[in-house]
Amino acid sequence: METIPFINPATGEQFGEVATATPDDVTRAVKDMRQAFTVWRRRSVKERVRVLRKLQEEIIDSLDEITAVINQNTGKSRQDGLIEVMMTVDRLHQYYKNAPKWLQRRRVPPGLYVFKNYYTEPHPYGVVAVIGPWNYPFDLTMPVVCSALLAGNTVVLKPSEVTAATGVLIEKLFQRVPELAPFVRVLHGGPTVGAALVQSQPDLIFLTGSTTTGRKIAKAAAETMTPFIAELGGKDPMIVLEDADIKSAAKWGAWGAFYNTGQTCMGIERVYVVESVYDEFLREAVAAAKSVKIGYSPDLHNPNDMGPLTFERQVHIAQEHLDDALAKGAHILYGGKIEGMFMEPTIIIDVNQDMKLMQEETFGPIMPVMRVKDETEALWLANDTVYGLSASVWSNNMRQAKRVAHRLDVGSVNVNDAISHYPVSLLPFGGVKQSGNARTHGKEEILQFTQLRSYAIGRPPMPFDLATRMREPDHYKLGAAILRLSFGVTPQQRLQPIQEALGETEKTPNFGKLVRTAGMATAVTALAIGLLRAKK
Ligand code: NAD
Repeated sequence: METIPFINPATGEQFGEVATATPDDVTRAVKDMRQAFTVWRRRSVKERVRVLRKLQEEIIDSLDEITAVINQNTGKSRQDGLIEVMMTVDRLHQYYKNAPKWLQRRRVPPGLYVFKNYYTEPHPYGVVAVIGPWNYPFDLTMPVVCSALLAGNTVVLKPSEVTAATGVLIEKLFQRVPELAPFVRVLHGGPTVGAALVQSQPDLIFLTGSTTTGRKIAKAAAETMTPFIAELGGKDPMIVLEDADIKSAAKWGAWGAFYNTGQTCMGIERVYVVESVYDEFLREAVAAAKSVKIGYSPDLHNPNDMGPLTFERQVHIAQEHLDDALAKGAHILYGGKIEGMFMEPTIIIDVNQDMKLMQEETFGPIMPVMRVKDETEALWLANDTVYGLSASVWSNNMRQAKRVAHRLDVGSVNVNDAISHYPVSLLPFGGVKQSGNARTHGKEEILQFTQLRSYAIGRPPMPFDLATRMREPDHYKLGAAILRLSFGVTPQQRLQPIQEALGETEKTPNFGKLVRTAGMATAVTALAIGLLRAKK
């Protein structure tokens, strides 16, 4: 039996393990969840909310257990673990309040078919495969699974193998709510298990992960035409303009670059500073980097800001990007040292767009800073990437800041802050370009787990219904008259059919007569509709 060990990246200690799912486990999970879907989809949204609130209760009761596991599993502080849980429960709290409204049936105007009722209804897909990452193993998994459930789907979750201990904890939390447990299955394992899940033909695949994995899954999903949505990588730029509060830009820019040891999809990965404030920005950024305390503690009161990188692969990528930049002429202004899994907060200057550091996702505590001439150059360089997740613009000239913000090819922009858009539960979050096509947060997150179905409801077509008559042959004149009356652009076009009906030939219509006739026609139609609706 293959197992995945749980390793604390800060200490190197193994603190447990879990069995890897076999191909049979994958097939069985999808089959079971397809069966369970027939039950869960019939529950009303209010009923699903009632059950999901029990999970919320369980999460809050298990707060210390959750932050302890996240801390051991990733090396981040208990407080940062708490922030993950906070973001999760805030988002779910909003969804439980609003989802019954968002998932309602919506009436659609009938157009010419006035005797029928038209409406749309969001329906769940069926079995949703959720494949998760390791950088925020709780917050990037739990709300997505709960959103899919809330929309009426059942879920097969494959958490990241890198943070398998958190995956096991998530599984336990679901199992502690007996009313919910039959509708979620968790499979532990790495890319092989993920690929088997994709192959098992779920009804929708949701990935949070790298663009490389997104590309692989998109190819596999295309073979079976399985719908696939994804939250992928980023290379988020920060632009500092001449009117910015430089101290604040440097402090919060550095925070955005170093938070979670730089392992944040919307972390600051590139900084472009206009030349008039470049030196001052660097001075302040170095001061901010110097104040970051590196270390690890399992205690609730942790004096450290920055923990270790979460696993070996991240250490290699950070080192590789650093070496590539230095070989191409960059210089380390501050930091640069890697010891074991810990890396100093690092500021690099003399960088250019050809370096890996400026093009590929680093996902480590490195802040490359480039001097630019002006807003135009900053914008051009910021958009010179295949990614488009988020960005940050700094200026006290709000007109200029907003102008730049709207020209950035990204899914979300912060003005005078970093990452502050993400914790806002009802503000949609997601990427453009190769950063993905999914949206989390808000109504959009819930609705993306549904397919809209349309209904046209009425009695058999009635002979006096204009839309019915038009379907019969030899009604060209009637059709043309309705078209002109309904969609004519000028008054002349609209009134022409009435004029013809009255036998008027003069160019200027008799408006008094026309208005009286139109009024009569409207009153008769309204009366007919009223009578018919009253009969239903
Ligand atoms: P990853 O792509 O290596 O792995 C993500 C998940 O995909 C894991 O569970 C992994 O086991 C699985 N997987 C890998 N290969 C697979 C395959 N061929 N078929 C099916 N599943 C497969 O990403 P990661 O290293 O876990 O996470 C970090 C990446 O995620 C970064 O690129 C980061 O920017 C991105 N990310 C994006 C967001 C966002 O919201 N846009 C949020 C967090 C992380």
